[in-house]
Amino acid sequence: MARREKLKNVKKPCPDHEKCIHVINLVIDGEANKDEEAFFYAHVRDCLDCAQYYKLEQSIRAAIRKKLEVKEAPEELIVELKKRVKDSFLNPSDDVS
Ligand SMILES: [Zn+2]
Repeated sequence: MARREKLKNVKKPCPDHEKCIHVINLVIDGEANKDEEAFFYAHVRDCLDCAQYYKLEQSIRAAIRKKLEVKEAPEELIVELKKRVKDSFLNPSDDVS
């Protein structure tokens, strides 16, 4: 159960996670400029936190798009989907021993 803590000790924590999240969202939305994109690609290579956040956000958006095929989803559905994707992300089938 201490698996996640272990990972954190190995990798250094994100120096500026708030900023990273902001940039990651821009990249996912296709609104990042060249500098932001460069920062993003260089950063997610080293930063596990942000790499995971990026994958998570992408999965959420893909899931929403697949489910709805519309651009605007009701807030509750997004929250629900986020929760579900996050759960499966943070608890990948641990059944394999
Ligand atoms: Zn980071």
